[in-house]
Amino acid sequence: MKVAVPRERRAHETRVAATPDTVKKYVGMGLEVVVEAGAGMAARLPDELYRAAGASIEADPASVYRGADIVLKVQRPLVAGEGELDELALIPKGALLLAVLSPYNAPDSVPAYAGVGITAMALEFVPRITRAQGMDVLSSQSNLAGYRAVLDAAFEYDRAMPMMMTAAGTVAPAKVMVLGAGVAGLQAIATAKRLGAIVSATDVRPAAKEQVESLGGRFVMVESEETKEAETAGGYAKEMSEDFKRRQAELVAETIKSQDIVICTALIPGRKAPTLVNDDMVASMRPGSIIVDLAVEQGGNCTASRPGEVVEVGGVKVVGHFNVPGRIATDASALYAKNLLNFLTPLLQTEDGVSLALDFDDEILAATTLTHGGRVTHPAFADNK
Ligand code: NAD
Repeated sequence: MKVAVPRERRAHETRVAATPDTVKKYVGMGLEVVVEAGAGMAARLPDELYRAAGASIEADPASVYRGADIVLKVQRPLVAGEGELDELALIPKGALLLAVLSPYNAPDSVPAYAGVGITAMALEFVPRITRAQGMDVLSSQSNLAGYRAVLDAAFEYDRAMPMMMTAAGTVAPAKVMVLGAGVAGLQAIATAKRLGAIVSATDVRPAAKEQVESLGGRFVMVESEETKEAETAGGYAKEMSEDFKRRQAELVAETIKSQDIVICTALIPGRKAPTLVNDDMVASMRPGSIIVDLAVEQGGNCTASRPGEVVEVGGVKVVGHFNVPGRIATDASALYAKNLLNFLTPLLQTEDGVSLALDFDDEILAATTLTHGGRVTHPAFADNK
């Protein structure tokens, strides 16, 4: 069985779906691994390390994909007209594709996977159950993004984060507010605390309160009966009512004007990110303040953020970097590759040679499989068949 690890070709992607460590594991299980030349370069993983781990290196992308049974990617394959190569056309019929496929952002891609007869699994749909924790790409990547967001803020900030009492005077600690206390938000709180900031955070899920406080942050939240229903069975947030949004806007407006740094991390799966910081709120902040919008690629939590840009509005810098986990590519690749290894390993049976044994009734495969056998099988996308 052949595993293909192509070079990622989408803009701003620096990560790679297998590392020399995971390649070694795949080879140990009896798989043949082919890595495209340069696939790990942006993550500082040169071809020689993959070769030493037992992979063969191919310069020609068509040769990487040819005969592959399993294709490991970070992002969904390019299709004709999207870039330098029609990657989807190169994936052999019947192959298993594992990647963050973002089908809500590209609904046409799902029938296209069915059309070429591949089994496409979207790793971001792995359910948040104990058995799947090691496969959870959203958590591994959000955790690093939350960390990096605070460092990006610190880089743009023209002041120090911790309190410093020096002979020349005292530097006040930065006040950091984190909007959304999920995986990224909690890591942002922890990172800002480590840097000595005074940290507060808000969320719509009451369960976040204890987590924020255990990290030394102050939790502020709209008091409302609605929050009791704000969390789905999967642990995600729901879209809130207009009344809640108005009250939350008042709370954020009141708090934000005294903050130096705001880290925006709020997301609602499958929807545009909630707008939490409007132009008036940005204008209320002191010049020199920083807003980092991690949700910028999902529509943004801040109306002033622009994808891929650092904009200055009335002296407030609004940071909207693309692909923040990709800004910490070596560790992001290491964790992502490990997530893929943990996902793939139970799908392999290794008696009498290695082969795929896919049980589509399994909770994890049922949640992640978009297409199989030429059909769109995921209920959320079946209408687009
Ligand atoms: P996410 O990335 O979808 O959203 C980030 C945060 O934004 C969430 O905390 C969400 O509640 C919050 N948010 C959404 N709308 C908001 C609004 N209007 N105002 C303020 N905040 C808003 O979520 P996530 O980081 O992936 O985590 C979601 C939950 O899943 C968390 O409780 C996390 O601890 C949990 N989780 C569980 C497991 C597991 O059990 N295996 C693994 C990872 C995460």
